[in-house]
Amino acid sequence: MEATSKIRNVLGLTLSSPLIIAGPCSAETEEQVLSTAKQIASLKRASIFRAGIWKPRTRPGQFEGIGSIGLEWLKKVKAETGLPTAVEVANVKHVYEALRMGIDFLWIGARTTVNPFSVQEIADALKGVNIPVLIKNPVNSDLDLWMGAIERIQKAGITKIGAIHRGFSSADKSQYRNKPIWELPIELKRRMPDIPMICDPSHICGNRELLFTIYQTAIDLDYEGLMIETHCNPASALSDAKQQVTPAELDKILKDIVVRFSTVEDRKFLSSLEDCRDRIDELDNKLIHLLANRMEIARSIGEYKKQTGVTILQNARWNEIVKNRTKQGMEKKLTADFVMKIFESIHQESIYHQKQTMGNEIAGAKEK
Ligand code: PEP
Ligand code: MN
Repeated sequence: MEATSKIRNVLGLTLSSPLIIAGPCSAETEEQVLSTAKQIASLKRASIFRAGIWKPRTRPGQFEGIGSIGLEWLKKVKAETGLPTAVEVANVKHVYEALRMGIDFLWIGARTTVNPFSVQEIADALKGVNIPVLIKNPVNSDLDLWMGAIERIQKAGITKIGAIHRGFSSADKSQYRNKPIWELPIELKRRMPDIPMICDPSHICGNRELLFTIYQTAIDLDYEGLMIETHCNPASALSDAKQQVTPAELDKILKDIVVRFSTVEDRKFLSSLEDCRDRIDELDNKLIHLLANRMEIARSIGEYKKQTGVTILQNARWNEIVKNRTKQGMEKKLTADFVMKIFESIHQESIYHQKQTMGNEIAGAKEK
């Protein structure tokens, strides 16, 4: 991992590169937990050791976690490797047991974030405690639900809070177990800039072969850290066997990642960045003018149609626009999907302006 010497403070940890949380999906045996932890610690790159003690499984009858005994093993991990530990909590009992056993970080899983009753129960149990809490996105792509969970924990007085992006389940077929839908975490970062964002590529991908498609993107998007499921023998894992990596594979991943910081103290870089931003501002300004001009024409068309009694509906014209603009866009290396979205929005706005002039008579019709 290429890193600069920039020192940052994330969740109370002093770091010079992204925060790395590693460890198995589930604690299974004392030997598996300690062996995995010692190998991870020897890489000297992870800052937190994770292990699921209580596992939320989709179907009953699968391995549902080793339970409280696993907390003793995590205590040993900390004593023998010095790594702080993190577990998932889904109810009050989990919170009390984790706190009693000196666990350093708690995380709230995706299946818990969806339920405000459960999150509130956890928040109430955490009142007066100063422990960092990481909140995974809910299983469904609902930004308010994710923000709501963060707010509930904030209101309980917890100050060290992080968000974990682990992807969103979807009925559509996808190569990912949980679709990343990057717009959501990006919007969360915009609305809650003080909450560090951590990516969990393991649960997004669902298999280790795809991990590389996600972790570098997360770092390029200025995420503060990664949570990567790591197991001393992934093939024999009792949960999420396909997505876990060995400590040696984790080492390779961390060496491959190219770290880019959002700001660097390099004058030349800063001045070319400023130059690019000026050019973008200028182009955006032109775009606004062009769009306003286009809408003015739409209003003239509306006026003309009103006088002549012609209806707006012109499907052939709209189909021609879609076809030509997509082709033109693709010739300029824009994706068809992007061009389509832009023109659909322009079309809607155009209809709005025509209707304003025509007096709202023809709802949902298309521009000429
Ligand atoms: C996990 O981290 O092992 C886990 C159960 O994750 P999620 O809540 O993202 O499904
Ligand atoms: Mn898992």
